[in-house]
Amino acid sequence: MVAPRLASDRVLEPLEGKDPTIATICSHSSLQIFHGARLEGFRTLGIARGKAPRFYDAFPLAKPDMFLTLPKVTEIGEHAERLRREAAVLVPTGSFVEYVGPERFSKLPVPVFGNRRVMEWESDREKERVWLEGAGVRMPRKYTDSSEVDGPVIVKYYGAKGGRGFILAKNRHELDNFRIVEPHVIQEYVIGTRYYIHFFYSPLNDKGYRCGDGSLELLGMDRRDEANIDELYKLGSQEELLRSGIRPTFVVTGNVPVVLRESLLPEIFEIGEKIVERSIDLFGGMVGPFCVEGIMTEKLEFYVFEISTRIVAGTNVYINGSPYSDMVAPGLSTGRRIALELKRAMAEDRLAEILS
Ligand code: AMP
Repeated sequence: MVAPRLASDRVLEPLEGKDPTIATICSHSSLQIFHGARLEGFRTLGIARGKAPRFYDAFPLAKPDMFLTLPKVTEIGEHAERLRREAAVLVPTGSFVEYVGPERFSKLPVPVFGNRRVMEWESDREKERVWLEGAGVRMPRKYTDSSEVDGPVIVKYYGAKGGRGFILAKNRHELDNFRIVEPHVIQEYVIGTRYYIHFFYSPLNDKGYRCGDGSLELLGMDRRDEANIDELYKLGSQEELLRSGIRPTFVVTGNVPVVLRESLLPEIFEIGEKIVERSIDLFGGMVGPFCVEGIMTEKLEFYVFEISTRIVAGTNVYINGSPYSDMVAPGLSTGRRIALELKRAMAEDRLAEILS
């Protein structure tokens, strides 16, 4: 089967007869993206605000070959011509899309790795739920009114950024003590252990774990370190902390590697597979790296609370390969996997299936 064509000839025009340059913002997982690209023989370009960051000097194998520096990253559209001249292929990351803005990013006249249409489905929590529930994936229950609450809940403000603006309540009575004014969603608080699962969907690969038009790979898993929630228990009970004006926050400060009980892997693959297949029906498919973020309960049921549809920073714990990716290819990082996919698409003349 051939995957849907995502990119028009116009989008691919700057790559005609040229070797692509892998480009991304100088943040998030850029070291890994540049390192992987270089291993596969690509030129690399770092996009930075102000001046070229010095920290790359400490990592010569991951330092981009060139920089595009801008006064403001939101002005990237004005530099599209330079990026097209360099035959840039932009690799989206959480930081890249957030700094540029999803709307502006999706309209950039420069080839992007993956399907840009995924952004509208991921950036809107309601649409994301339609996609994931439509895929038949178990999600935390969503309460439409606080009167329905019959257990622990997490309240998420719509505008909440970077893990701030959450409220935790053990029951309805406790929830009623909070004055919640801004637009928000009340979600079942799932008790268990968190896993952030790094998948890669290749529409080009006709071997391995077949899924959709291609195949699904598991490249790693991490758990996020979140301040202050992870260490809060050391200070006392939630009630005591609240009385002292200390509220829980979920600000990601780092990542740690994890593996899952092997007997749970079949279920995890089925979840990844269903999400990919639904994405093909809804918007022509999600291509490349994505992360399924969820909680495994004591009943060994996995609840998905979020999906990130691009490389996640948790993959940085595996720049030299993970316990899973090493069984796909030794030393394989997600950054290197992106470069490999691009290389294969070029060799098979199938760029339109992986770029948009
Ligand atoms: P989110 O902004 O949805 O990625 O959530 C941020 C963090 O809140 C996650 O990394 C989890 O630690 C926690 N979290 C989110 N939703 C839930 C949930 N339904 N149950 C338990 N913890 C959650």
